[in-house]
Amino acid sequence: MEVDFAKIIKTIGKFENETFIIVNFQFSIVNLIIMYRTHTCGELRAGNLNETVTLAGWVQKARDLGAMTFIDIRDRYGITQLVVDENSPEDVKRTASSLGREFVIQVTGRVVERSAKNPKMPTGDIEIAITGLTVLGAADTPPFTIEENSDGGDDLRMKYRYLDLRRPPLQRAMMLRHRMAQSVRRYLDGHGFLEIETPFLIKDTPEGARAFLVPSRMNGGEFYALPQSPQTFKQLLMVSGYDRYFQIVRCFRDEDLRADRQPEFTQIDCEMAFVEQEDVLEIFEGMAKYLFMETLGVDMSYKFPRITWHEAMERYGSDKPDIRFGMEFRNLTAKAKGSGFTVFDSAEYIGAIVAEGCAAYTRKQIDELTEFVKRPQVGAKGLVWIRMEQDGTVKSSIDKFFTPEQLASIAGECGAKAGDMIFIIAGDRKQSLSALGDLRLELGGRLGLRDKSVFKPLWVIDFPLLEWDEETKRFYAMHHPFTSPKTEDIPLFDTDPGNIRANAYDFVVNGVEIGGGSIRIHDSALQAKMFEVLGFTPESAESQFGFLMSAFRYGAPPHGGIAFGFDRFCSLFGGSDSIRDYIAFPKNNSGRDVMIDAPSPITDTQLAELQLRVVKLTMN
Ligand code: ASP
Repeated sequence: MEVDFAKIIKTIGKFENETFIIVNFQFSIVNLIIMYRTHTCGELRAGNLNETVTLAGWVQKARDLGAMTFIDIRDRYGITQLVVDENSPEDVKRTASSLGREFVIQVTGRVVERSAKNPKMPTGDIEIAITGLTVLGAADTPPFTIEENSDGGDDLRMKYRYLDLRRPPLQRAMMLRHRMAQSVRRYLDGHGFLEIETPFLIKDTPEGARAFLVPSRMNGGEFYALPQSPQTFKQLLMVSGYDRYFQIVRCFRDEDLRADRQPEFTQIDCEMAFVEQEDVLEIFEGMAKYLFMETLGVDMSYKFPRITWHEAMERYGSDKPDIRFGMEFRNLTAKAKGSGFTVFDSAEYIGAIVAEGCAAYTRKQIDELTEFVKRPQVGAKGLVWIRMEQDGTVKSSIDKFFTPEQLASIAGECGAKAGDMIFIIAGDRKQSLSALGDLRLELGGRLGLRDKSVFKPLWVIDFPLLEWDEETKRFYAMHHPFTSPKTEDIPLFDTDPGNIRANAYDFVVNGVEIGGGSIRIHDSALQAKMFEVLGFTPESAESQFGFLMSAFRYGAPPHGGIAFGFDRFCSLFGGSDSIRDYIAFPKNNSGRDVMIDAPSPITDTQLAELQLRVVKLTMN
C-alpha cells in the first residue's frame, strides 16, 4: 500500500477541534488515532519528566488536602497521580473539586517528579501537574469500590459486572484469556489447522448433558438445540476433507452449575483426519507446552506422563489425578481381611494412604477427616487410622482386632515409617476408591502439597467405552457415542461390552480435566453397532444421526480429535478455582445473568409467533 502523507496531513487539517497523531508507521500501515490521550495511565516514568502529556481515564480517588488536591486516574494499564495546587488554573481547581469516584476525565499537564515517591506503583516516581481538566463522563457513586480488593459482595458485583470488570484482577484475567487465545491460534495455524465456524442452531447431539432449546418461528412447533459441542460437525468436516480443523467456540449445556461449570462455556475444539491416537496426543501435548511457555514462561520440555484410566482409579481413585504429590493408594484387600473386624472382612475393597509426618494429628483433626469422608458427597462409612509413633510403637483405631505385629505388617505393606499416619477406607470398591481419592486431595490440600504455581500435566488414556447405569439398567457412552473402541476389544461388543476400552484420552493438569477427546468411529456399520449397544433402535439412530451415518457411506477418513475447556485452561493458568472470573459476562449459580436479567418472560405476541403457550407446572 502506498501512503500519501500529503493527503493524510490535509485530512488532519480538516479537523479543527481534535488533534491527530500518526502512530505505528510500520510496513506502510498507518493508524490515525484521535488524541484523547498521549499516554496510558500506566506508562509514564521518570524518563518522561517535563513532558507535556494528556491522559484519559477514570477517577480512582480524589483527595482534597486544602492547598492541594491529588487525583488518581486509572485505566486498564495502571494508575497515575495527578496534582492540582494553588498554581493551577482556576477552572482546573473548580472542576477538580467537583470530581467523584469513577468520573471519566481527560487531563493535560506536565510530568513532574514526586517529592514522596511510591515504589509500589510503576508510575510512582512521577505525577502530573495538571493545567487542563475536562469531565468526559460524570458518574454516580459506584455500588462498590473498584479496587484490587472490592468491598462488594458477589451478587452486587455480578449485577454491576461492567464495573467489576474495571477492577485489576478481572482485567488481568481478561488479558490472560486474550493472550492464551492468541497463542492457541498461533500454534494451531502454524500446524496447518483451519479455523472453521459451525452453526449454533442445530439438532441435539447426545454428549451427556441436557441441551438448550430454541423454538423456531418459521417452523412452528419445532425446535433447534444449541450445540453441547460441535462434535458431529467437526466429524463431517473431516469427511469433507478439511483434515485439520479448530475453533475457539461456545458450547451450551443445561446442567446444574458448580464453580467450574457455566451453561455456556468455551472450548478449543479440534479435529484431525488420517491420525491415530498418538498423533493427536503429540500435536496437543505440543500445544499445551506452547501455551505454558508463551503465557507463563513455564518450560515443560519433557514428555507428559500417561496413565491408563484403570491405573488412575487404582492409584488415585480418580480419572483426573492430581499428581503434584504422591500419597498413592495401597491395596490392603488381601492383607487386612480375616481378623474378625467385620468392616474389613465384608469389604469388597480395602485401601490405604500414608500421610507423611502426620502421626501427631490430634483427635480433633482425625474427627474432622472422619466427618469429611462420611459426607454424602464422599460417601465412606468411616475412617480407620494407624499412627506410627516416633518411638516405633503403633497405635490405631482398630487395636481391638489386630495385634501390634499385624498392624506393623500392614504399615510395612503401606511403606509407612515412624512419624507417619495411615488412613484406611473399606467397603464397596468403586465408592471406597473414590472416597479415598477425595481424602487424598483433602490431605494434600491441608499439607500444602497442592501449590497453584506448580503444574503437573498428564494424559489419562484407555477409558472404558461404556458405563453401566444401575438405575436405568443400560449402558451410556463414557465419552460420547462417536468414540471408537480399541480394535482388539471389538469382539467384546457381543460378550462383555462393559470391558471394552476406548481410544479415548483426557488431558489433566493438577487434578482438573482440561481436555478430552477420542479417535472416532468412521465406519457406519460399527457406528450402528455402537448405537445399538446404547439402546437406540435402528429407526431412532437413523432419525437422530442419519446425516452422520450417511456421510460415513461417502468416503470417511479415519479421524480423531480433542476439545479443551478454554475457561478452565484460563483459570488454571490464572491460579483460580472459578472459571467465572475468566468469562467477561458469566451466569450465576442459578444460571441467571443478573445484570441483564435473563432468562426473562417473553410477550404474548412473541409466544403467538412461536406458536407456544406457557403452562406453569408445580414441581415438587
Ligand atoms: N466433543 C467432545 C467434548 O465436548 C470432545 C471431543 O471428543 O473432541 O467433550
